[in-house]
Amino acid sequence: MAHIRHQALKHVQTREKVQVKPPSNKISDYFGRLTFGIEQMRASLSPEIFKKVDRAIKDRKKIDNGTADAVAAAVRVWAMDKGVTHYTHWFQPLTGATAEKHDAFYDPIKGIENLKGSELVQQEPDASSFPSGGIRTTFEARGYTAWDPSSPIFIYGSTLCIPTIFVSYTGEALDNKAPLLKALDAVDKAATKVCKIFDRNVTKVNASLGWEQEYFVVDEALFNARPDLILGGRTVYGHNPARGQQLDDHYFGSIPSRIYNFMKDFEIHAHDLGIPLRTRHNEVAPSQFEVAPMFGPVNVSTDQNQLLKDLMPRVAGNHNLKVLFHEKPFAGLNGNGKHNNWSLITDTGVNLFQPTGSARENLMFLTFLVCTIKAVYEYADLLRASIASSGNDHRLGANEAPPAIISIFLGSTLNGVLDELENNGNIKIEKGDNLYMKLGIDQIPEIMLDNTDRNRTSPFAFTGNKFEFRAVGGDANVSVPMTVLNLIVAEQLRDFHKKVTKLTDDDQDKRLAVIEVLRDYIKSSKKIRFEGDNYSEEWVREAEKRGLSNVKDTPKALDFWISEKAQKLFERHKVLNEVELEARHEVMLENYIMKVQIESRVMGDLAMNHIIPTAIAYQNKLVQNANGLKDLGIDASEIIKTISEISKHVSNIRKLSHDMVEERKRVNLIENTRDKAIEYADSVKGKYFDDIRYAVDKLEQMVDDEDWPLIKYRELLFLR
Ligand code: ADP
Ligand code: MG
Repeated sequence: MAHIRHQALKHVQTREKVQVKPPSNKISDYFGRLTFGIEQMRASLSPEIFKKVDRAIKDRKKIDNGTADAVAAAVRVWAMDKGVTHYTHWFQPLTGATAEKHDAFYDPIKGIENLKGSELVQQEPDASSFPSGGIRTTFEARGYTAWDPSSPIFIYGSTLCIPTIFVSYTGEALDNKAPLLKALDAVDKAATKVCKIFDRNVTKVNASLGWEQEYFVVDEALFNARPDLILGGRTVYGHNPARGQQLDDHYFGSIPSRIYNFMKDFEIHAHDLGIPLRTRHNEVAPSQFEVAPMFGPVNVSTDQNQLLKDLMPRVAGNHNLKVLFHEKPFAGLNGNGKHNNWSLITDTGVNLFQPTGSARENLMFLTFLVCTIKAVYEYADLLRASIASSGNDHRLGANEAPPAIISIFLGSTLNGVLDELENNGNIKIEKGDNLYMKLGIDQIPEIMLDNTDRNRTSPFAFTGNKFEFRAVGGDANVSVPMTVLNLIVAEQLRDFHKKVTKLTDDDQDKRLAVIEVLRDYIKSSKKIRFEGDNYSEEWVREAEKRGLSNVKDTPKALDFWISEKAQKLFERHKVLNEVELEARHEVMLENYIMKVQIESRVMGDLAMNHIIPTAIAYQNKLVQNANGLKDLGIDASEIIKTISEISKHVSNIRKLSHDMVEERKRVNLIENTRDKAIEYADSVKGKYFDDIRYAVDKLEQMVDDEDWPLIKYRELLFLR
């Protein structure tokens, strides 16, 4: 019993709770103390300098050198006061993670601590090994990072982290953040223009994001005994536990105390960092949980999600725990998603997706609602592409997850309103008529939460005062789907504004012009609306009839990034050009190939070196037993049956693993990255993964529990 599984299980039994003590019982006493954002700048900069910075942030303009020097000095003093010695430009390369390179404040030549404005504003990291999809050939492998003052600077460990974008010297974006900022600008511009049709006072529209992060927690020793979790974040084998999530008793159940302490711990760190975490609860699957903050500006909220995804695993280490963000760590159980709650809010404080008691204001609400629906209809494929990853492929369409088909849920009230608007034809307005009553839009209730929140199966749902994009994967960098969503809505609003302006230029009544365009949008985007059960087979068939696409695998879903339609869209709003899109496409394909390749290798390795030897050893025991029985003249036919079943599975695994290796060799020779990725999906993963797993999971049920080499699901999942 020396093997690693038993050792790991013993470790778990000796775990002690790690006590956690918050710095104060009031979160407000320490919230944000490690961030240097607008408030800290206001407090530490002179009023003139502060005004300049504030203006530059609001207008997304460059900060001049003198101002940058002043901010740099202030932030260095603030940070050194807290024991910080180094600083780094913190950026989000296309790997989907975050990156940093630390420099000391200490200047050995002058012999003093220093941070120049120019160092705050721009850096040249030696980052040539980050994927760029061929944008940077090796001889000009230089990119630079540039400060994004709209996201607060923060202290992480003993390092001052400066949020930045990462671009090449020729101006191409090399990260996920630069395009996001541009898309946010685009939606601001377009939405502000549309707002002005209704309200002249609006001068800016900010997109808001509130994500809900799902994750699993497992014991560190158990995790370390599963090479598949270590290398790919997902269990490639494992039979369902006798008690899975059938009982649903985990959902909102009490949180096991070891995990509760871990949560308290990372929440304290998150609050220090100004991440406004608010909710924590159990999820549907055993050992699964969710954490969500108060929503904020998309850009800030995105950075906070990235930071939290870095923070949680670090804190988990102190509790001998591991966090899994993978979209499908366990077959047959709920996966990890990350709902993206999204809305648009004006600088006058109006949430444009919040219906009001006033019918007049509701016309503005309807405009934004319908434009979003139309945008999602027009660019459903691109939205699908924005959430495509090898991990999410296991989740979309699987148990408890929205399908790969994009559709929108509105709830019966709003559906009724849109239907009425659509069917009301060309209304004749007489003097003294109540237009809103005639259109039926005087009846939108202010609060629709109950009626809109029912459908949990929709990938894109209206939830009363915001949209919730639910198909985003748990491990995703949300800046990618947020770039696409804000961009497509910007495009639709732009189109809307153009059409309305044309009609009003022709002397049409403004309100009627708005309604005419909306009616046209409602009609033409109807197919994307679906109120029923998205997890059902009927929906798959129905969606096909409607002509909605259902692309299950990442390599083909990614095609939409480089479609002509997408290229035009990205170029029109100057978010990404053709070269940048193609580079990204290439990086995402390569990433997909790498992930599937790793999983395939792990599967082969575990099968050949762990599973088969164990099965054969067990089989030998049975053979001895059968012989013994025979010697005694006792019928051994049942045991012989088991022996031959084991043989069958073993030889299947051997053959399939061997063939899978051969297939990989063949596929690896394919030059074209897209073709290669498709072959990895179809010929490696598609042809072998399920069959090998089936045989291994069967063996798990047959072989003596004592001897089984891999930590079992029930052990991983029922941690107390
Ligand atoms: P759920 O039932 O899905 O858990 P909640 O009401 O708890 O819904 O909200 C979930 C998330 O939605 C939270 O992270 C919250 O901050 C976010 N949220 C609420 N209002 C908005 C909004 N106007 N814009 C963006 N996100 C929002
Ligand atoms: Mg939600």
